[in-house]
Amino acid sequence: MQDPQPTASHFVNGAYLEDTAGTPIDVVYPATGAVIARVHAATPAVIDAALDAAVAGQKVWAAMTGTERGRILRRAADMMRDRNRALSELETLDTGKPMQETLVVDATSGADALEYFGGLAGSLTGEHIPLAGGDFVYTRRVPLGVCVGIGAWNYPTQIACWKGAPALACGNAMVFKPSETTPLCALKVAEILHEAGLPAGVYNVVQGMGEVGGALVTDPRVAKVSLTGSVPTGRKVYAAAAEGMKHVTMELGGKSPMLIFDDADLENAVSGAILGNFYSSGQVCSNGTRVFVQKGIKDAFLARLSERLAHVKIGDPMDETVSFGPMVSERQMRIVEGYVDAGLNEGARLVTGGKQLAREGFYLPPTVFADVTDDMSIAREEIFGPVMAVLDFDDEAEAIARANDTPFGLAAGVFTQDITRAHRVIAALEAGTGYINTYNLAPVEAPFGGTKASGVGRENSKLAIEHYSEMRSVYVAMNDVEAPY
Ligand code: NDP
Repeated sequence: MQDPQPTASHFVNGAYLEDTAGTPIDVVYPATGAVIARVHAATPAVIDAALDAAVAGQKVWAAMTGTERGRILRRAADMMRDRNRALSELETLDTGKPMQETLVVDATSGADALEYFGGLAGSLTGEHIPLAGGDFVYTRRVPLGVCVGIGAWNYPTQIACWKGAPALACGNAMVFKPSETTPLCALKVAEILHEAGLPAGVYNVVQGMGEVGGALVTDPRVAKVSLTGSVPTGRKVYAAAAEGMKHVTMELGGKSPMLIFDDADLENAVSGAILGNFYSSGQVCSNGTRVFVQKGIKDAFLARLSERLAHVKIGDPMDETVSFGPMVSERQMRIVEGYVDAGLNEGARLVTGGKQLAREGFYLPPTVFADVTDDMSIAREEIFGPVMAVLDFDDEAEAIARANDTPFGLAAGVFTQDITRAHRVIAALEAGTGYINTYNLAPVEAPFGGTKASGVGRENSKLAIEHYSEMRSVYVAMNDVEAPY
């Protein structure tokens, strides 16, 4: 196994950079609790160097053709795929997610983003708008400049690429700050991009806690901020960005509903509920954590869910047969345990799980509460852990109203074999990302993001281009200028 200790804490101006004067950040392997690496938070000098490098690098990068930029991004995508195993191991060491997941989701989805936006880079253009008398306007699609990416800890490689790929395709530079909990993977993304031919300074990584993110967001050299994080952090970052009139993308939290109707295919509905609650130990922003089950199918659903959960293989995430790993940190596990206690105190029925496993590491097993009511905290607040809340409902209108009764709006799912109901219900649910008879897929070709408090803007798809570039228009007169005097 590789040594997870990176060459240095930061990647700035095309090279690793260290400054041990910054606050030390220990990297803890969630499966054992052991410290496996140490980095240092960026000092003001490191932040300054990264922003200066990004300003200079962006000019070089934007002067290249889109086709040249795209070629470099696609080369980086190929390199990520070639190195998938090593990158997956690092992702597992950083997050604790099982290799069974990281081998097929993390570097691979990062590579998809680099390939997809690399493919688009050469076709990003403006348009010609004909006007009276032969006059016309043409528009030029221009990059925003220096973009800041701030990541959460659940998908450190994917988030670094989902933000970096569209930003770079449009001709921007990026300074990315990973979560302090998972600082390792973004450094590898930067290393690969530069090995693929990226000019120095175009993609930089600086480590640190919230205050480093705050310093980046308020810096006048920065034109745009893209955050993946919680709603409270989103509010702070959005407000700070507004002060400087910066563009934003906010990918925030959720408490997404999944509606399972009596006529649903039971196996598919149970599979969707498992994927939408327990993948990555439940640490997924779009999880369908409020599972509304119509009364006629409720007993069968809970019985089959329990049978299926008996087959979960919890253990060493490096063992590729293991399907469920630890939570990312002891802190996060304690937060989730607090919600388990709240569920019990508020009268929900614990069907399975709920107790930390007696082994090293931060293991909380798949946990299911039934008979949950809308007012309970486990039905209202984002838990961000392996806790499923099952709620009953009688009819469609009631389920829709209750599903929408939340400040969040990230995702929503419906399981039914009635095709008209499927489309009617998904259209009525207030969510940026909807699913019919499946859950939690996020292909790079499709827009992803939230409505209401869950966010602003979209990642992935052609729409992301709109969030990393702006149109400038030029009016061209073909006639004399008429002035009144
Ligand atoms: P946080 O909101 O705690 O942190 C997100 C990032 O913002 C971290 O890098 C954090 O740094 C940084 N940060 C914190 N405060 C500030 C600040 N004032 N200014 C600038 N940056 C700041 O989220 P978590 O890391 O705990 O991740 C979990 C959350 O992320 C959940 O709510 C989840 O739903 C959401 N999420 C959303 C996704 C989406 O696509 N919509 C996808 C994945 C997760 P540090 O932590 O190092 O202090």
